[in-house]
Amino acid sequence: AEASSRKPEGQSVRVVVRVRPLTSTDTEGTCSALSINPNGQHVQLSAPHDKRTTRQFSFDAALDQHISQEDMYSSSGVQGLVDAAAQGYHSTIFAYGQTGSGKTFTMEGFKYTMPSGNSGATAAKARAPTADFQNTPQHQLGIIPRVIAALFQALNSDTSRRSVVRCSYVQIYKEQAYDLLNPTSILSAMGPQHHNKQQQQGPGGASGALRMRWSKAEDFYLENLFKVECNSAEEALFLFRSGVQNKVMASHKLNASSSRSHCLLTLYIDSSPLSSSTEIISSRLTLVDLAGSERGSSIGATSEGKLRDESVAINKSLFTLRQVITCLAAASSQQQGGTTPSSHVPYRDSKLTSLLKNSLGGTSLTLMVACLAPSDAFYEENLSTLEYASKAA
Ligand code: ADP
Ligand code: MG
Repeated sequence: AEASSRKPEGQSVRVVVRVRPLTSTDTEGTCSALSINPNGQHVQLSAPHDKRTTRQFSFDAALDQHISQEDMYSSSGVQGLVDAAAQGYHSTIFAYGQTGSGKTFTMEGFKYTMPSGNSGATAAKARAPTADFQNTPQHQLGIIPRVIAALFQALNSDTSRRSVVRCSYVQIYKEQAYDLLNPTSILSAMGPQHHNKQQQQGPGGASGALRMRWSKAEDFYLENLFKVECNSAEEALFLFRSGVQNKVMASHKLNASSSRSHCLLTLYIDSSPLSSSTEIISSRLTLVDLAGSERGSSIGATSEGKLRDESVAINKSLFTLRQVITCLAAASSQQQGGTTPSSHVPYRDSKLTSLLKNSLGGTSLTLMVACLAPSDAFYEENLSTLEYASKAA
């Protein structure tokens, strides 16, 4: 059964903005054009060469480059979404923003290293970065590891119910879905040299992509998707880490930067009262590291058909997500104004939004973390992120 139609505590859609610190790869120095008001809810952006054109945007919270991962978690209300999920409501958290704006840092927080000692004939292509879990300091962990810990804590502290948690991890690339917890799916996606005859027909066929199906009970779902039961936060974190490693490896071999794919970690919670194992309430907590929101031109798309193709497919999921969130935000402000929302929400137009259909809108809670890079070089992208994010708020 789904959760009751009663609304959970909290706003349906919350939007927070996070500005990352400058890194050694930023060439143009600090962003004189970007500022956050002391009350932490407004962001001002002016055109770098014309300070008179200043725009101001408002959010549920605006977090500057000094915010720690821990404070980011508490200031953006993540715990509220975890508690809602533990009580039977669907919750979804997105990281949105251009490539390099800090989405993966915000969601994962793992330290990445390039293997050393490669030179000459071993081209850069053969060198995949690895996530260095052992050397990632605890305080640097992002939203997902914190959510996993908090979810198990919330479920374990409710002694009146018994809960089962399962986990899936999906990568959507060019409108194809891959199972990051299923080695066969990944090996098939990587091509024939990477798998043997028995594995030839991976889930969903030779491409390794999963087929999307529809059923009355489940709505849209991915056929053969691994949903692995986790008995503790440690087990869930272990699965997440192996999926992260698979994501990095698959993206590298496919020569597809992970910045061009969407990654969805979903925690499925089935809980029932101790007195009755048949009264099951099911909810989902989905954590999404979105593809970079930049337009094709700024990720170096050339006349090569491949890249253009990719940005169209990426834009289809991102474009539809933007429409869906904007529709939901408009509907919820109409509701507050006493009118009934009537607009059609175009969930079916992309893989990402089809899969999230039941996790957005209705009684579910959504948090969007819009990430900004603090450099004047990214003025246009920052402006587009702020414009979109403020519409969603
Ligand atoms: P995206 O996933 O949006 O492409 P990343 O998360 O990979 O961006 O961030 C780009 C770079 O900036 C990475 O080297 C990352 O470690 C660094 N970075 C991002 N946000 C922060 C932060 N809040 N503190 C320190 N470093 C950060
Ligand atoms: Mg990333």
